[in-house]
Amino acid sequence: MKLAKFPRLRITHGPTPLEPMKRLSEALGGPNLWIKRDDCTGLASGGNKTRKLEYLMAEAVQQGADTIITQGATQSNHARQTVAIAAKLGMQSHIILEDRTGYTFEDYKHSGNVFLDHLYGASISEVPVDTDMNAAMAQLADKLRSQGRRPYVIPGGGSNPVGALGYVTCALELANQANEMGVAFDCLVHATGSAGTQAGLVVGLYGARTQIPVYGVGVRAPKPAQEERVYKLACDTAELLGVPGCVQREDVFANCDYVGPGYGKPTPGMIEAVKMFARLEGLLLDPVYSGKGAAGLIDLCRKGHFKKGQNVVFLHTGGSVGLYGYQHAFKDALAA
Ligand SMILES: *Cc1c(COP(=O)(O)O)cnc(C)c1O
Repeated sequence: MKLAKFPRLRITHGPTPLEPMKRLSEALGGPNLWIKRDDCTGLASGGNKTRKLEYLMAEAVQQGADTIITQGATQSNHARQTVAIAAKLGMQSHIILEDRTGYTFEDYKHSGNVFLDHLYGASISEVPVDTDMNAAMAQLADKLRSQGRRPYVIPGGGSNPVGALGYVTCALELANQANEMGVAFDCLVHATGSAGTQAGLVVGLYGARTQIPVYGVGVRAPKPAQEERVYKLACDTAELLGVPGCVQREDVFANCDYVGPGYGKPTPGMIEAVKMFARLEGLLLDPVYSGKGAAGLIDLCRKGHFKKGQNVVFLHTGGSVGLYGYQHAFKDALAA
């Protein structure tokens, strides 16, 4: 695949560590659990969007952009990492935040990612749930162009074929680390949302024929819509890389049983997963994505879906900053 021909800004501190989770594995009594630390990508307290932004922001620089526009939910990790890179590159940033939860909690509205968005100097607009976010970004881009700015628009989650290249890179990095450490992984588990992470991973892992299956745990859409979205983006990404056809429809799998009441809404499984990772491994998950992904992982180990003797790696996609926006949700669990 022609990965090296794409312009890339080197921002990620990498390779990110691949570590065993001994105490969690022991507590669950199932497979050997590992963690790929993409919470340690090094920018703005880390997360998976940084890898995508290496390619997206390189394209923005190439196009002579001086302003970045993107969108996300109120506590968007993607928006936070985007505005941080924009600051580093001396660009203006405008983010449109969608009120997807309707929460009025003080911490949710102002702390966590929102606090950092302000700190990085972003211009922020808030819109109600179900706003056409792409139309809102296009409109803002037109307005900024009329004022003489040169905006570059990044889709939600940085999930287009250029952004997904970041996770093709991660897939190759992981395969290489696994090789060096002599660990044959039976499965890679991670939280899947706007689909760029999973699409890039399947293109990288299947394109390189590593035989490591990818297990997405959904955080928003129902299973058919999520799998379709990942598959389509994987096909477009493979096309971009000059390896069309390397991903089959059956290579794309998502389990959307852990979403709970909706995107960004806490579940008991998420709260338990965040506590277990903190208390057994000293790791910080997040309430919206990695917490629900880990809730899926824990449940699947308990149910025997993942078995003793297998090696399962959890991709930690970051987001711990979001915990500060959700302190209200942990009050009871921490008092108990
Ligand atoms: C965005 C995000 C995800 C999901 O990645 P997608 O590429 O949008 O599917 C997972 N975890 C965290 C912490 C995120 O911020």
